[in-house]
Amino acid sequence: MITPPSPVVVRLDQVSKTYEGGVVALDRVSLEIRPGELIGIVGPSGSGKSTMLNILGTLDRPSSGEVDLAGYRVRRLSDRQLSVLRALTIGFIFQQFHLAAGVPALDNVADGMLYAGVPRRIRLDRAERALHRVGLGHRIDHRPHELSGGERQRVAIARAVIGDPPLLLADEPTGNLDTAAGTGVMTLLRELHEGGTTVVIITHDRDIAASLPRRVEMRDGHLITDTADTAGTEGARS
Ligand code: ADP
Repeated sequence: MITPPSPVVVRLDQVSKTYEGGVVALDRVSLEIRPGELIGIVGPSGSGKSTMLNILGTLDRPSSGEVDLAGYRVRRLSDRQLSVLRALTIGFIFQQFHLAAGVPALDNVADGMLYAGVPRRIRLDRAERALHRVGLGHRIDHRPHELSGGERQRVAIARAVIGDPPLLLADEPTGNLDTAAGTGVMTLLRELHEGGTTVVIITHDRDIAASLPRRVEMRDGHLITDTADTAGTEGARS
């Protein structure tokens, strides 16, 4: 009997990215991310991690190669179609939080659904639930400057998950936090993963990387190690 192919959240097939000026930031990288995975992308500064995340997140298009997101071939979509697909499938978390200054946590989180044309009252209701989900139900009226670094990142995570995207992409999510706050944010990301979300984390923190079930290691734009290939990570092979 023929087994159908396993579902894939994102697939990069021989993806290269050359920036203006000729820097080859990614060189023929192939990678499959399956539903329910928790993956670390590791490597030294300049190795191509952020470029890879931007391409996985369809924020940037490759110079060559193919990207499939949720079964759609990204090259075939217009920018408008792609932004709808991205909004429905991916939540982004950044090192710098990217919260709007002077705006209460509730509205910062509700803005994560602006794309969807959902009435404001429903967005605020969903935002309140998302803030409870990240343990900040008691901080909904606080503005970013009234929150600790760890709390700001939790608000950013609530904003990323308000629409229940199947995929979370986090770029150095603990990079601006002290150890205790960073541990709390990692615990939260693990909880979201255990709840069924696929989570990809860029990190250069060795302890965090070592704790993740699958690690993809980058060097000079090349994917040099994928533990799914070497350790037979569950679900990585069909
Ligand atoms: P990392 O996230 O691992 O630090 P990056 O993906 O940011 O690596 O960068 C990979 C390479 O691409 C580096 O040499 C970097 O200088 C270069 N690079 C990144 N972004 C740009 C850009 N917008 N224009 C030109 N070069 C870039």
